[in-house]
Amino acid sequence: MVLNQPTLQVQDIVRPTHVEVNLTRLTENYQAIRAGVGAAAIMPVLKANGYGHGLVPVAQHLQTLGVPYLGVAFLEEGIMLRQAGIHTPILVMGGIIGNQVPHFLHYDLTLTASSLEKLTQIEQVAAQLGKRATVHLKIDTGMERIGVHYYSAGELLHAAAASSHCEVEGIYSHFANSDNPDLSSARLQLARFKAVLAQAEQVGLRPRYRHIANSGAILQLPESHLDMVRPGLLFYGVYPDETIPRTITVRPALTWKSRVVYFKVVQPGHPVSYGSTWQADHPVRLITVPVGYGDGYFRAMSGQAELLVRGRRYPVVGRICMDQLMVNIEWETAYNGDEVILLGEQDGQQISCNELARWANTIPYEILTNINTRVPRIYAADSART
Ligand SMILES: *Cc1c(COP(=O)(O)O)cnc(C)c1O
Repeated sequence: MVLNQPTLQVQDIVRPTHVEVNLTRLTENYQAIRAGVGAAAIMPVLKANGYGHGLVPVAQHLQTLGVPYLGVAFLEEGIMLRQAGIHTPILVMGGIIGNQVPHFLHYDLTLTASSLEKLTQIEQVAAQLGKRATVHLKIDTGMERIGVHYYSAGELLHAAAASSHCEVEGIYSHFANSDNPDLSSARLQLARFKAVLAQAEQVGLRPRYRHIANSGAILQLPESHLDMVRPGLLFYGVYPDETIPRTITVRPALTWKSRVVYFKVVQPGHPVSYGSTWQADHPVRLITVPVGYGDGYFRAMSGQAELLVRGRRYPVVGRICMDQLMVNIEWETAYNGDEVILLGEQDGQQISCNELARWANTIPYEILTNINTRVPRIYAADSART
């Protein structure tokens, strides 16, 4: 592994707890998805700090790969990318609030027109500013989040077709259940979406990008790939659900590391950490690792989580603190400074995002997005590519 920004090695020393993002893996995941979706374009989704991988660095990397589109949730995320010099087209998938439209136009961000009112608002602002807005129409086919209902999309479609200051470049929808082994709900949503697409054509709208597929649908529902797919979790190398078929092979790009900061022997009758919830019935070796729920390592995983030291799995014992946690290594060996893997691989062993999600009783999405900004990100690439 080569650190591409030498200054970040200093942070590595200052804070042993950090996230390492392997950009080569992101490239490989992008290529694997591309190979799996035929002619469809790919819009990697970078919301929530690039699912914890770092918004700007991941976007910069994707721009060098020549991706056709990037997806974010909020206006601010799009502006951050533009200010960082990203010129790839960016779709902001969230709803427009207040008077945000001029900022979208100023930063050349693609707007989501999710209702007739929003489209009218975009049209008016664009006319006032003498600009053309690029918009994607959002159809709600069963998520009940944002978007015009599939059964009442007619007015929006007509207005979009008649618009003179909006270029309708896309029309899209979002699945509520594409990561479920039971695809009946996703199929129903796709059928509803296709009916709206046919209706759009009737009024003369034939946008370049018709899209609905997120990670689950990319894996399980090829007929939903259409003109573009929007992989989030899958692009980062994580499967949204462990029970659905892995039709595309991706590998995790993110490794969460720390180091042993303390070693001690603890005697029976001497409970460990807040609340004194755990104690050994024989003398054990405990190591302390400087990471906690204040970094996003969920406290709910207390008594559940395991991590890797010297290629072996050990249990986290007692309550996870804000900045530190304790690990029972029984009578094995570990030294101060030894590398600890909280998420990722070490010597052929692996702690997966889905495991962490199980321990925390949540989903892998929340594990990644919860690793907060106190944890420095370091970007690496495989030095020897074969
Ligand atoms: C987050 C999001 C995605 C990506 O979802 P994954 O399940 O991570 O692939 C795609 N489309 C929309 C509208 C989203 O909000």
